Amino acid sequence: MKIVFHERYKQVYSYDPAAKVGRIENIVEALKGYEFVQPQSAAVQDLLFVHTQTLIDSVKRDKAVFELASLAAGGAITSAEIALSEPAFGLIRPPGHHAGRDFNGGFCFFNNMAIAIQRLIHQKKINRALIVDIDLHYGNGTYDILGGRKDVVFLNMECQERQRYLDELKESLEKTKSYDIIGVSAGFDTYEKDWGRSLKTEDYKTIGSMIKEAAKSCQGRSFALLEGGYYIPDLGKNVKSFLNGLE
Ligand SMILES: [Zn+2]
Repeated sequence: MKIVFHERYKQVYSYDPAAKVGRIENIVEALKGYEFVQPQSAAVQDLLFVHTQTLIDSVKRDKAVFELASLAAGGAITSAEIALSEPAFGLIRPPGHHAGRDFNGGFCFFNNMAIAIQRLIHQKKINRALIVDIDLHYGNGTYDILGGRKDVVFLNMECQERQRYLDELKESLEKTKSYDIIGVSAGFDTYEKDWGRSLKTEDYKTIGSMIKEAAKSCQGRSFALLEGGYYIPDLGKNVKSFLNGLE
């Protein structure tokens, strides 16, 4: 298990809750002892795998945001590359799952997951992918870019009730067949003290274990990227719980 991280992700680049000071620091603290890998920024041609030039140009108007969003996309690319040989967690921000081909919002600028997956497919390193979005919110950007494709299955979990959520995820994973990698859009805002008011810390370990089990059918290839999660005091604890299940 490798953690993909850049010191610059600590930078407060906007006033939204994902950019809040202390959020990344709490996770870094909890993951002490893991091996950290530093990514490079994604190139514009990587962004163009899934976004329009117009969308890219609109993000470019704020230089600091563009640089960080490109570095987050680069972190996603590195995480996916590592996943070809061992699991990886992209401790990245800004998040990405609300960024579509030609729109963005919801604290997201570029779709980190879609870029990483599309790049692997383009390079023929994989043929098919499974994306599991466990964030509280619907991954509308990911669906906009990759929804309906034959080579990508997009499982978006929606939580009404804790046990039902876990049961539905297990069932959905068991039903889904033939993919070469699993990418998890790992948002932690479904947590009981976060906006979703539902999952417990140990549930993230259970979810991680389910992903690990499912990844047995694709040589263990799996990676996760940080999306939401706003209850800062327990964020690192929940990420660590998830990774304990995944590794
Ligand atoms: Zn969310």
